[in-house]
Amino acid sequence: MAKTIALIVAAGSGSRVGGDVPKQYRLLQGKPLLRYSIDALLSSDLIDQVRVVINPDHRSHYEAATTGLTLLPPISGGAERQDSVRSGLEAIAEEDPDLVFIHDAARPFLTGRLIAELIGTLEKHAAVIPALHVADTLKRATAVQIVTDTVDRANLYRVQTPQAFRYREILSAHRQAAGKALTDDAAVAEAAGIDVKLIKGSENLFKVTEEVDFDRAEALLAQNQAIRVGTGFDVHRFEDGTSVTLCGVEIPHNQSLKGHSDADVGLHAITDALYGATGGGDIGEHFPPSDPQWRGVASEVFLRHAGDFIADRGGKILNIDVTLICESPKITPHKQDMVRRIAEILELPLSSVNVKATTTEGLGFTGRREGIAAQATASISMPNENGVIND
Ligand code: MG
Repeated sequence: MAKTIALIVAAGSGSRVGGDVPKQYRLLQGKPLLRYSIDALLSSDLIDQVRVVINPDHRSHYEAATTGLTLLPPISGGAERQDSVRSGLEAIAEEDPDLVFIHDAARPFLTGRLIAELIGTLEKHAAVIPALHVADTLKRATAVQIVTDTVDRANLYRVQTPQAFRYREILSAHRQAAGKALTDDAAVAEAAGIDVKLIKGSENLFKVTEEVDFDRAEALLAQNQAIRVGTGFDVHRFEDGTSVTLCGVEIPHNQSLKGHSDADVGLHAITDALYGATGGGDIGEHFPPSDPQWRGVASEVFLRHAGDFIADRGGKILNIDVTLICESPKITPHKQDMVRRIAEILELPLSSVNVKATTTEGLGFTGRREGIAAQATASISMPNENGVIND
């Protein structure tokens, strides 16, 4: 299989949109703009490595946006985009790729389908770019905006990135083009006499430049949420003691619950439901009972972690419903306190949390008052495919 490296160009000043954060690092639904392109490229089996060309003044933003990712080290860009791309191409020479993608960080929504199609096209062509037909009628006008003529748009296209090339050809073309001002990498290839093939781009692959583009990107991501559901179940047995902690509320009782932590069955069931909804395992994987650091810990620590786990993935908790199953203590007098406590820990509105209680009519281990069980359901909304837009 051809070795393919993706270069993402993020070296601009990033100052076109207001605010302290350069636009390529501005958050979209909690994730930096640049990170969308990185995630899309890293999630493709067809891309071997990703390298970002950055503005050296933005290094701290870059580090924060890429924590934990396996990327080739960033390259400092030049004065013009073309200089940045050439530096990037020179820098990956030691990796000796067959193919290279050159992509603008300002286009966050590239898809696996497009990546595959670009690579497939490079089997027959040395250069390929995504493009869309121009649908609007085009006019040429004077400096004072008087129309001089109508431009035939039959063969006109708007082009996008990633643009994909056979590596040696585009490196050589960029070396030849040094000093000439060309507007994209396809133009560099054209100047070197390389045939550039067009394939169909996507309206979702628009460039995020102005404030209105950020709004459009936010709207697209908002539509791209999946509703997911998780369930949790937990049991703890009684032992000698004077109180139990249920859903974060301590209730005086003639017994306590035995457990490694505070044995809060209610919060454990909710925590598992939240991990379950994300596809993120269970409480025992995140907080192994064999690890002494969790001994006696308040279960709100686990619950908060599950909430952060969802938020870190761009997700949002929609609602939680938990049922405590026991003969005693009586839950009803404490239900509202439990709802408040859960809502407080997860920073949710009270209306998103419901606590119920039931007995098992004296049957089974809960009926024999040997312990307490809890079951919970949670629903969340989370971006599809970790935020990668499908088309
Ligand atoms: Mg438990």
